[in-house]
Amino acid sequence: MKTIVLVGISFLALTVGSLSMAGDFWGFPHKKKSGKIEAIAGCMFSGKTDELIRRIDAAQHAHKKVQAFKHAFDTRVKESMLHAHNGSSFGAICIMSGADLIAHLDAQGDDVDVIVIDEVQFFGEEMVRCVDKLVADGKRVIVAGLDMDFLGRPFGITPTLLAKADKVTKKEARCFICGRKAHFTQRLVNGKPAKPSDPLILIGAEECYQARCRDCFEIGQEEGILVQPAQSTTFVEDDPEAFNVPSQQQNTNTHPEE
Ligand SMILES: [Zn+2]
Repeated sequence: MKTIVLVGISFLALTVGSLSMAGDFWGFPHKKKSGKIEAIAGCMFSGKTDELIRRIDAAQHAHKKVQAFKHAFDTRVKESMLHAHNGSSFGAICIMSGADLIAHLDAQGDDVDVIVIDEVQFFGEEMVRCVDKLVADGKRVIVAGLDMDFLGRPFGITPTLLAKADKVTKKEARCFICGRKAHFTQRLVNGKPAKPSDPLILIGAEECYQARCRDCFEIGQEEGILVQPAQSTTFVEDDPEAFNVPSQQQNTNTHPEE
């Protein structure tokens, strides 16, 4: 009985082996292993960076090389830190674009396994093509960002990356007013809800922002104007030819040009 089983296993192994060799012989293409996108989204104070750091720690325990990036806003700032509430932190390179990111990775010699991009909502559509390229090259890309702006509109490229992601994590905060689960970022200007005419990006100043639930979230009313904050916010399109992405992944531009 034992002999029959052993012979059976050997036969199976031989068959699989020969089929694989036949594949080589007949020129069947060996499928290249793609990477994946993991997207972490949510409002401010929802613990997105904590989640990023948790995944970075896990990847490092698995002996993967991780490189983190975040938006620079100011070209003089070269490096920054991602801080988790438990005190752990991780260094990030500050970049202005996807082209910057690729240039940094090229300079490191392409041995990075996991690429982390924080504050992804601030980048232009070019970053989506950059992520597509990284995934096509087999990288695991973890992006984190605000999914809605201070008017409750889809924010920048985050919605596109959520749609493309293999895995989506939507984080929740606690409502500053009532304590229930919160998904909105409330912006206060001089203690009052921000109006649609206020500028989209106001960096820093945490005291200007609160996490709020749908019921407690407020949009300041312009005098004499009925507010309908329905449209998404997108950033100005940058160089559309910046990345050479395989054709099946090229249709990333779902937003109308502005
Ligand atoms: Zn509330």
